[in-house]
Amino acid sequence: MAENKKVIRVGSRESRLAVEQTMLLLRQIEKSHPELTFELVTMKTTGDMILDRSLDQVGGKGLFVKELDKALREKQIDFSVHSLKDMPMEQPEGMPIVAFSGRGEVRDVLVYPRGRERWSPDCGRPFVIGTSSERRRLQLAAMFPEAEFSLIRGNVLTRLKKLDEGKYDAIVLAAAGLIRLGLSDRIDTYLEPDQVIPAAGQAILAVQGRTGEDYSYLDCIACESARQEAEAERGFVRYLDGGCSSPIAAYAVKEGELLRLRGLYYEEETGRYLTGELTGPAEEAEALGIALAKKLQASVGGRTSCGKVRPGAPLNACPAGRRTSCGKVWLVGAGPSDPGLFTLKGQKVLSEAQVVVYDRLVGPAILQMMPEKAEKIDVGKRSGDHPVPQEEINRILLEKAREGKRVVRLKGGDPFVFGRGGEELELLAEHHIPFEVVPGVTAAAAVPAYAGIPVTHRDYCSSVHLITAHKKRGSGETLDFDTLAKLDGTLVFYMGLSALGDICRGLVAAGMEEDMPAAVLERGTTAAQRRVVSTVSRLPEEARKEKIQSPALIVVGKVCSLSETFRWAEDRPLGKQRIIVTRPKKRSRKMADRLTALGAEVILLPAIETEPIGNNEPLERAFSQLETYSWIAFTSAEGVDCFFDKLYEAGIDIRNLSGIRFAAIGPATEKALAKRGIFAEVKPTVYTGEALGTLLAEQVGPGERLLLPRADIGTEQVTAPLLAAGIAFDDVAVYRTELSDGEGNGLDIRPEDIVTFTSASTVRGFVRMFPGLDYRKVRGLCIGEQTAKEAEQYGIQVIVSDRADMDSMVEKLLEIVK
Ligand code: SAH
Repeated sequence: MAENKKVIRVGSRESRLAVEQTMLLLRQIEKSHPELTFELVTMKTTGDMILDRSLDQVGGKGLFVKELDKALREKQIDFSVHSLKDMPMEQPEGMPIVAFSGRGEVRDVLVYPRGRERWSPDCGRPFVIGTSSERRRLQLAAMFPEAEFSLIRGNVLTRLKKLDEGKYDAIVLAAAGLIRLGLSDRIDTYLEPDQVIPAAGQAILAVQGRTGEDYSYLDCIACESARQEAEAERGFVRYLDGGCSSPIAAYAVKEGELLRLRGLYYEEETGRYLTGELTGPAEEAEALGIALAKKLQASVGGRTSCGKVRPGAPLNACPAGRRTSCGKVWLVGAGPSDPGLFTLKGQKVLSEAQVVVYDRLVGPAILQMMPEKAEKIDVGKRSGDHPVPQEEINRILLEKAREGKRVVRLKGGDPFVFGRGGEELELLAEHHIPFEVVPGVTAAAAVPAYAGIPVTHRDYCSSVHLITAHKKRGSGETLDFDTLAKLDGTLVFYMGLSALGDICRGLVAAGMEEDMPAAVLERGTTAAQRRVVSTVSRLPEEARKEKIQSPALIVVGKVCSLSETFRWAEDRPLGKQRIIVTRPKKRSRKMADRLTALGAEVILLPAIETEPIGNNEPLERAFSQLETYSWIAFTSAEGVDCFFDKLYEAGIDIRNLSGIRFAAIGPATEKALAKRGIFAEVKPTVYTGEALGTLLAEQVGPGERLLLPRADIGTEQVTAPLLAAGIAFDDVAVYRTELSDGEGNGLDIRPEDIVTFTSASTVRGFVRMFPGLDYRKVRGLCIGEQTAKEAEQYGIQVIVSDRADMDSMVEKLLEIVK
């Protein structure tokens, strides 16, 4: 009679797979013990509830068992059934594993999406494998070197659904789970255990009970070889780590009285892993596991079977709990190109970046702001001209952040306006990488403004619409011209140049007036910006005639008719000129500001940097005998600053210089000296070294001594006349000049550019930055004859300012552009 039957309460996770597995076991027991009745108690475990990150990250062990353990301890259930691979290596006090089921199909399998085309090597995308397990990722990376890995969580059914939705090209699952769910038809490729070593305990079910209770009725399902295999595998893992989700794998097979154990060991510090095998008596299963663990651990570092994890490294480089310094990503909008439109916040964040991942659309002047030491990753083009695929960019951001770096993802315009910023954040959010977004000035806000087009104006329209002409590839949708034509607003199309004809035709066909003003704006906010303003019906033809190129924005709407009235950008004195300033960074600001104020597009490209000489014995010697000098002559503002800074550091009162006479090569030097409270009495009329030297040769009297604090690479121009005149002088280097070892950050020098050179060393620095450039196509504006001579040596088209000062250089520039 049913009432006499003993009711045994059995705990299980509530996922369909867990229930199926438990039922499988219970049916088996029932067969041998018809007197028993089972009541299933299902529970949601922590592991089931946290679905948004990889378990490696959640940290903690036994995420799938804690709740069941509690129920067991509190006698709400009599035993619980688990997938052994989800169980922690250490069993809680008083709750041992009382039976191991026979092993099911142990292999992992690859499953491909249903109802979609399968990935193929020539489809131009990386092969994306979904997995949440670092163990699988490591091993699959060795099998599929080109594959990319993407996190997937959720139960088997959820994962299959995500797969079929096209989020992955394949996912990895345990065959046993699919089979138990009756889904074996979804298995596409079995992964052999020597290719992908399964998780310890895979395909074994474990029954967990309480000590002291009688579980003899479980003997009918207990499998001795599964127990031994499990103990060897778990012994291996326990010795190495003890965690249930670290990338350790072990697989034992019982062969007669022996166990053959294969294991994978991963060394977190180095990202290396290796696999190995050991055979031993099945009786001593756990000892075998420990022996293999020791063996692998001992050989890390020295052996050939070592696998190096592909760049990009481990998914769990900073798992919770062990996290030391997880990095952060800033998604930064650089604006449309003009560096003046780059936000202060963006500049600040960029200046502190350790890694910068940038696009083709980021303005060249902004690229020059990348910190010298930062790792710079150009994802706008790779070999040839192919941009790096989006998935790879996402991956790079994730990996760099996981290395603990401050990563700036620098994008043209605004990151969220047709910038795929959202897509890039998805993976970061999934992996709980901290991030910030720094908005940028989007093209639609700036490019029309620089073309004299106000995107809204109360007399002409009541709205403005940002539209992309390029939907995500394969989405198959086209623009809804009927709606667009009706809006009575300004329409701004991004990425529309190649579809310009279609757009204009579509709008007219949908009823837009043929003479609706429309414009194409090329390379807006740069010195090279161009615009074609016409009507919607004639625009395609006229843009073609003008050979308008990308990047270009299309604006359709009455406001376009204002562009001639409101034009301003090109009409600034230097509005059409791009100028490259090669001065050292700390000395370039003033010049850049002046040129920018005149409308030039200024790119700061320091070709040299100067640095005061620290331990400077010759200078100290000079300081100790200041009274012996009658003259001090300076040939640069930098020399003045270094000299006086050192004087201050040495604690020497400036009055020790009283009685000494001063000379300065030109106005900038003179001014720097005046700022120190000393007005030079000797200045040549021409600002060259030779002129200064000649003048000094005349002025310095017999028996007088001259101190010449200047650059380490000072030329003989100054000293030759002094030597010729037999004047006693000390030539003391106070700063070092170093040629830049930058590579121009991908800047391409165009024939219409003007490069300013303010010393011969800036010419040398520039040449070093652009080896192999056809210098005959470079227009160089040089500050003086000596600089010009250096530039001419390389074939640079030389223009020399009339005087060796900045005013004169600016005058010359204005003259040239006329
Ligand atoms: N996130 C960017 C847009 C990227 S889509 C932003 O907010 O501006 C790229 C498209 O932007 C280009 O095809 C072009 O249509 C437009 N664009 C970007 N910069 C531009 C510029 N300086 N001049 C003209 N169009 C520009």
